[in-house]
Amino acid sequence: MDLFGHLKAYDYGDVHFSHDKATGLKAIIAIHDSRLGPALGGCRFLPYDTDEDALVDALRLARGMTYKAALAGLAHGGGKSVLIRPKQHFDRVALFRAFGRFVDNLGGHYITAEDSGTGLEDMEILHGVTKHVTGVDIARGGSGDPSPFTALGVRRGIEACVKAKLGRDSLEGVHVAVQGVGHVGYHLCNELHIAGAKLSVADVDPLKAERATREFGATVVPLDKIFETPCDVIAPCALGSALNDTTIPRIVAKIVAGAANNQLAQPRHGDDLHARGILYAPDYAINAGGLVNVAQEVLGYDAQKARKKTLEIYDTILEIADRSSKTGTPTYLIADMMVEEKLAAVSRSKMRAASPSKPDA
Ligand code: NAD
Repeated sequence: MDLFGHLKAYDYGDVHFSHDKATGLKAIIAIHDSRLGPALGGCRFLPYDTDEDALVDALRLARGMTYKAALAGLAHGGGKSVLIRPKQHFDRVALFRAFGRFVDNLGGHYITAEDSGTGLEDMEILHGVTKHVTGVDIARGGSGDPSPFTALGVRRGIEACVKAKLGRDSLEGVHVAVQGVGHVGYHLCNELHIAGAKLSVADVDPLKAERATREFGATVVPLDKIFETPCDVIAPCALGSALNDTTIPRIVAKIVAGAANNQLAQPRHGDDLHARGILYAPDYAINAGGLVNVAQEVLGYDAQKARKKTLEIYDTILEIADRSSKTGTPTYLIADMMVEEKLAAVSRSKMRAASPSKPDA
């Protein structure tokens, strides 16, 4: 494995490895960037074919967390951890306790949270070993389900897009087609319905789509027709890679703004949307509400503060749209530039602080 080649490719950062013989723990903590504060990001517990696959997953995801946290204005860097799920029988409690000690040994440089393959119970185990964990029980200061906050941020992002692209100050009568009405999609429909939007929905689970009809008056659209719905906004809230060579040419809407992670199958699809005159709200900019909520837990959980910070997603999306239209640059690139500007500014101010100018003799 070209270890340092991978680190260079993802522009690292620190990577920590732990192998605990007693429990069989094999874990990687990737800290992509800490210029804005301690790295925050979830811990995955999945089987991987190779150690290299696990490393690349951690590196890729931690880098994404740096960008999401920075653009959301959080005092956090990006981190992610991966516990390689043992193929043989294992003691989950012992394994997570060993992982908790690994996190604790980093002294707060990395703060962990739930991710694929982990849940509240695992976070509770970690909490017994380290304080550098979020997503614990609400009764003990946890921040609870992030989905309503993610949905709130997406609704604000849609409002910003509607303002920028359609010149409208309200969602009253705006038609939004939502792909996937699971945790976030359901709460998003609720937000949009309250704001007076008209809804079309599609979900592989017909019961979820029917619930959106029953509760919000949504029209159910066949799965393969959701992107061509004649509407104002497409909101991808299902899986990644929803925006690709098949779906983009069929989009009628002028705006794409939804919660799903990694919506662009490839970066060039961001160029395709731009070329078609479709305003795309970069996924990590618009779906940061859940992370904002979790970050609030680190400070001492306060739902009102988390809500207030999530509402700021409106300003971020508006600025991205504005800079994109002024420079003719696709929005996904503008978002990256805004992050890189923030990180460079922190580096400059840290350098100034480290070498203060000498007073005149
Ligand atoms: P979820 O699994 O609860 O919901 C996804 C929904 O999409 C499900 O109802 C599923 O049936 C449906 N679906 C799957 N494939 C589909 C398809 N081809 N067409 C239509 N519907 C389809 O997940 P979630 O927590 O709501 O997250 C949705 C997306 O948002 C994911 O990409 C997730 O990574 C991202 N996201 C979630 C959060 C959060 O707070 N939960 C935060 C940031 C990003």
